Amino acid sequence: MKTFQVEHVIKWMERTNDKIGQNKEYLTSLDQAIGDGDHGINMVRGFREVVNKITEQEYETVADALKDIAMTLISKVGGASGPLYGTAFLKFSMASKDHDVTYDTFVKGVEDACNGIKQRGKADVGEKTMLDVWCPVADQLKKESRFTADAISRTAKEAMENTKDIMATKGRASYMKERSIGHLDPGAVSSFYLFEALAEVIQEGA
Ligand code: ADP
Ligand code: MG
Repeated sequence: MKTFQVEHVIKWMERTNDKIGQNKEYLTSLDQAIGDGDHGINMVRGFREVVNKITEQEYETVADALKDIAMTLISKVGGASGPLYGTAFLKFSMASKDHDVTYDTFVKGVEDACNGIKQRGKADVGEKTMLDVWCPVADQLKKESRFTADAISRTAKEAMENTKDIMATKGRASYMKERSIGHLDPGAVSSFYLFEALAEVIQEGA
């Protein structure tokens, strides 16, 4: 894959939606352990709406498709995760504006997404949130010079697993203090599905 195109965005969202749908109960159980148990429902609702929206429309640019994804997630998902995911895709869209989405643009998009979540959530890496997946993936992308599926899925998986040992200091899970240790962060797990889906789309190429 040389450039990331509209057809790739659509496949990416379809794959993400499939994975989230298949793991709805699992995401729910993770959020029951350290939150309020709605993360599965929130993510299923959001990504189903995203797929409905972007498959019924024609897009000229990746930026336009990413913007619609952002707006859908912000408007359709209750809970903290909707606006946070939405902000990520909005920043990604802005980084893609007026560009062919080459590898460098893509990297900038994920990096800006990571910074956008930080700002919106007033959070940083190491607080047991989705940032603990988005930001390591952005760092890994910077080390490569082309789309590499393996590196993305491996990094996202390791980063997701690392959230187990962290104490939550942001979001609902932070109310649990030390008792949040030993549980995966739900938003890190849904973010892992997103990047695993991305890796599959890259793997399939073209
Ligand atoms: P809610 O917490 O409102 O019930 P969800 O359950 O859908 O929303 O999403 C919870 C996830 O959102 C967490 O697992 C975490 O990854 C992420 N999250 C929560 N608060 C923040 C924050 N301030 N910054 C970044 N991510 C956050
Ligand atoms: Mg929740």
